Amino acid sequence: MLSKNAPVIVVGAGPAGCSLALYLAQHDVNTLLIETFTEANFLDQAPRTGSIHPSTLEMFADLGLYERIEPRGLIAPTFQFWDRLSDSMIAEFDHAVLKDDTRFPFVLQCERIKVAEEAMKMLRTYPNVKIRMGTTLVDMEQDADGVTAIVTNEGGETERIQGSFIISGEGARSVVRKASNIAFEGYTYPDQVLTVSVVHDFDKLHGYSYRNYLSDPDQWANLFKWGQPERWRVHFPTSLDDDPEMLLSDDYCQAQLQKFLPNSQPYDIVYRKLYSSHQLVADTFNVGRALLAGDSAHVNSPIGGVGMNSGVHDSINLGEKLVGILDGSMDMSVLDRYTRQRKHVAVNHVKTITERNKKLINERDPEVRKRNHDMLHDTAADPKRAREYILRTSLMKSLEEVAAIQ
Ligand SMILES: Cc1cc2nc3c(=O)[nH]c(=O)nc-3n(C[C@H](O)[C@H](O)[C@H](O)COP(=O)(O)OP(=O)(O)OC[C@H]3O[C@@H](n4cnc5c(N)ncnc54)[C@H](O)[C@@H]3O)c2cc1C
Repeated sequence: MLSKNAPVIVVGAGPAGCSLALYLAQHDVNTLLIETFTEANFLDQAPRTGSIHPSTLEMFADLGLYERIEPRGLIAPTFQFWDRLSDSMIAEFDHAVLKDDTRFPFVLQCERIKVAEEAMKMLRTYPNVKIRMGTTLVDMEQDADGVTAIVTNEGGETERIQGSFIISGEGARSVVRKASNIAFEGYTYPDQVLTVSVVHDFDKLHGYSYRNYLSDPDQWANLFKWGQPERWRVHFPTSLDDDPEMLLSDDYCQAQLQKFLPNSQPYDIVYRKLYSSHQLVADTFNVGRALLAGDSAHVNSPIGGVGMNSGVHDSINLGEKLVGILDGSMDMSVLDRYTRQRKHVAVNHVKTITERNKKLINERDPEVRKRNHDMLHDTAADPKRAREYILRTSLMKSLEEVAAIQ
């Protein structure tokens, strides 16, 4: 018999898991957060992500997290599209058009690990939250009343932990998803992306904004600025046939940066990494008491910066429903609604936005390129159309649609 105080088990202290754990903690739900990284190496994770859109900033503000991450990031009111062939700006979008829609008419550039670090500091202050670092979920079971998480702890022992629900915030390789036999289908892009972080004044020297998408039929690029410490990150596509060691070499990275923007000195490179990108969506986000949120439910290309944002939106949506079930005001059928609502966003917003962005910057046909560039230019120049455009890119439109899905 499951104890009345059995916790909700949240697996993974990434943005999705931390947001859900915070929401549950603040609604008096006993919560156990399991994370495979240890206390000692949690902050050593590869830096990724960071464009946090107004819709998510609203949620972070409600959790009390915004005020902690704002000083650790950079406020980016605008984003730009550039044509690499003519080295000219195609369009600049300004979030100021959302001034009547949100308290946060800007994007906050703040890396994923800083969000998780600040959320973990907050979580440690709640007596109803238990955090198990260095603990890895390896399997799970469930029956009508509860779940059992099978984990290996820091000492390498296997333990069985009981809970009322288990939520995967584990990222793309979710054990919960596999143990629940949930299909995860879609495709992997036929290129790898090289990301290089540098210290350089791209804004002052070339007029780039803090967030830039660069269209080029041969080699698209993205350029973003991060704060504390100040860094720029450039992304280029690379061929899967190329040797990863060569792609990560100083010579190759320097040559790509010089081609991107010639500089009289070698670039000051502080980090480099290759990653693959995918478009995959889970068949369902709920099976009984096992649930998926964030990358465990959907992974997408990072071009548009919506993966983490939509994962946090999953968590807040799910948190409301779990609290309702646990306090008796909702029944288990709301979890089917969770799938209907959030799968709609994964397919019709996150996947669509990121696929469209990739096509826009990668287009080879000169006529289509010109049409795309004209469309972006005209949209940015018209405040009404620019607002509609940013309501979509910031996922605010997706939340409006979600509210209407029963
Ligand atoms: C280069 C790059 C740039 C990106 N930029 C953006 C951006 O600007 N904006 C944006 O919205 N998104 C961006 N993304 C996507 C974003 O990083 C992910 O969508 C987001 O991190 C997913 O959050 P999550 O909490 O679901 O999973 P993750 O961030 O992957 O966290 C999963 C956590 O679970 C832990 N874990 C995994 N398995 C287990 C297990 N079995 N047991 C215990 N713990 C486990 C992991 O250690 C980790 O801490 C980017 C991605 C990349 C690669």
